[in-house]
Amino acid sequence: MVHLPIFMDNNSTTRVDPRVLEAMLPYFSERYGNAASRHHSFGWEAKDAVDRAREQVAELIGAEAREIIFTSGATESNNLALRGVAGMYRTQGNHIITAVTEHKAVLDPCKRLQREGYDATFLPVDRFGRVSAEQVAQAITPKTILVSIMAVNNEVGTLQPIQEIAGVCKEHGVLFHTDAAQAAGKIPIDMQTPERQRISNVLHPVRKVPSDERSRGIDLASLSAHKIYGPKGVGALFVRRRDPHVRLEPIFDGGGHEGGLRSGTLPVPLIVGFGKACELCLQEMRVEAVRLGTLREKLYHGITSRMSEVSLNGHPTERLPGTLNLSFAHVKGDALMMGLRNVAISSGSACTSASVEPSYVLKALGVDDELAHSSIRFGLGRFNTEEEVDYVIDEVVRTVERLRAINPMYEIARQGNESAGSQPP
Ligand SMILES: *Cc1c(COP(=O)(O)O)cnc(C)c1O
Repeated sequence: MVHLPIFMDNNSTTRVDPRVLEAMLPYFSERYGNAASRHHSFGWEAKDAVDRAREQVAELIGAEAREIIFTSGATESNNLALRGVAGMYRTQGNHIITAVTEHKAVLDPCKRLQREGYDATFLPVDRFGRVSAEQVAQAITPKTILVSIMAVNNEVGTLQPIQEIAGVCKEHGVLFHTDAAQAAGKIPIDMQTPERQRISNVLHPVRKVPSDERSRGIDLASLSAHKIYGPKGVGALFVRRRDPHVRLEPIFDGGGHEGGLRSGTLPVPLIVGFGKACELCLQEMRVEAVRLGTLREKLYHGITSRMSEVSLNGHPTERLPGTLNLSFAHVKGDALMMGLRNVAISSGSACTSASVEPSYVLKALGVDDELAHSSIRFGLGRFNTEEEVDYVIDEVVRTVERLRAINPMYEIARQGNESAGSQPP
């Protein structure tokens, strides 16, 4: 028996793990101190908890605790990285490189910087959603100060070759930021070794490399707690403190918390939960990635073995384990979502204030508008079961078949295909 509705939208957010919630609870009630209070035990207790969480977050990504700046989430981290570098390194240059498939929390700050006189290059991606290190190298000019390329795309799950891109940036003396909101905690990502290992290697321990290779690494990385079974409203920015020591101009001023980079009283319960979530991911990531990869393949083959004209969006192998983005030809996107209302999933349409637009990510991969609208992103996560996957396969196949049966264009297209196939050469 599955419980409806089924949540299969774990790229948009995740349920707080019960172990995370339990760790947080005392910090809402009896341990409510302000981590900046120096003169009593309430403050010390809160500060100790924040220190521990900072270690837990740092350990997940192979960073040092002092390199972790707590923020309200990956959106703020991205803004702080982009605006912070742009402001601080203005005298060295005004050019930023990013890619068209980045999250809006990277694209929009870049566009704002353009309006303020900076130059931004938005690199195109290939049909799998990838940017190459060569593309980045070719786009770098003497004015370039920062490259920002996400580790994993949230819509299609494509992994970017961030290790090679980081290498190119280092060669050119350009800072490298990565939005790792979908990567950290799900696949190995290591600030120490610039290595983000292939999914197929997740069973093997992360290679530890000598610290001199650190200098080839990532300079800034954005994380979010609520994508990895932590609470909403907290995240972090990794800021490298040696080789090189990255400096940032803060976005807002105030009490000078977080080394002056992010003023504001620390949300201790959220930070404690974020730390716990990172600890659990570090322990369970490898086993979980294999389980989610298996479930995802089951979902994919379960659907495509029973139906034709279903296409996969994103990279066939270089992809986040739990992510499956499919386009269903000959159905209307809104009817498809309506038919699947027992399953919480995301569609390839984005509602703007004015209209329903096809996903800009799918467009960038070359998916036509119609197909983008009839696309579905399945985001499998820690709490999804095999029974749920079986249910979703049946539900998707049944819904798509029903919608195709009532679509006159489908019959015409099918007959067209058949007669085209029977034509002599
Ligand atoms: C969710 C997400 C964000 C935004 O993170 P918040 O913590 O919700 O602000 C940014 N980038 C990517 C890739 C994401 O998936």
